[in-house]
Amino acid sequence: MRLLPACVLTLLLAALPAAAQQDFSKVEIKTTKLAEHVYMMEGAGGNLGLSVGDDATFLIDDQFAPLTDKINAAIAKVAKQPVKFIVNTHWHFDHTGGNENFGKAGTLIFAHENVRKRMSTEQFIAFLNAKQPPSPKPALPIVTFTDSVSFFLNGEEIRVTHVPRAHTDGDAIVHFTTSDVLHMGDTYFNGMYPFIDASSGGSLDGVIAAADKGLAIANDNTRIIPGHGPLSNRRELQAYRDMLADINTRMRKLVSDGRSADDIVAARVTAPYDEKYGKGFIKAEQFSKMLAAMMGAK
Ligand SMILES: [Zn+2]
Repeated sequence: MRLLPACVLTLLLAALPAAAQQDFSKVEIKTTKLAEHVYMMEGAGGNLGLSVGDDATFLIDDQFAPLTDKINAAIAKVAKQPVKFIVNTHWHFDHTGGNENFGKAGTLIFAHENVRKRMSTEQFIAFLNAKQPPSPKPALPIVTFTDSVSFFLNGEEIRVTHVPRAHTDGDAIVHFTTSDVLHMGDTYFNGMYPFIDASSGGSLDGVIAAADKGLAIANDNTRIIPGHGPLSNRRELQAYRDMLADINTRMRKLVSDGRSADDIVAARVTAPYDEKYGKGFIKAEQFSKMLAAMMGAK
């Protein structure tokens, strides 16, 4: 096995049997208040979004199964009620790993229809060379949508919008419309090159389009929760979008000129951005390889 960076390894290990999984006992859940009713929570895996209030407790994503008790304990500090609704931003196991626990406890899980489809059957993520078995029934979203769905809770509309073929083929971004908090799911890796899961129907064009969608929703005061990385804002999302668009244009040119995948990696198209984005779990060379393969370079 080639040496993989830590977080990709985390994803990879999560796909292996329980005995081989990482130790979650040290993980602490950090809760950040973003608006009167809305919080961001960080632990291990994808960032969570939380709405609390008199109506119901609403959660975006649920990380890994061994963290459910810690997540519930952190939620109980700010919420009067247990989680009634979960929206999964996409099917990946670092965002849906807690689904089975929550589903068994009676939480209603919502997601794009492709999330349920993928979680219902065995999946293979080529980039990680990892198989993921079908999820047990209580883990599956019980309500699916195609384009969008809105929740009217805790004094505001929470608008969930599908963004096609982005990080996967089942991504949703979630806007707390009055609190003005936007959760981008894994269409946005803040401060690092993103993993784009082509095996699950993802595409670079779709990630750029998802960023454009987020930019259209956000204003200068919007708090933006990325799928991974620290809390963000419109200015940073714009820079991320422009970085991806620039790399996309220049790399496609090399592909259409018939350059090989090795040539494209050697051309270091990402160089101007490596200092800022190349220190996350996908390093510059890996990112170039991933994109060159997605663009069909041989
Ligand atoms: Zn993901």
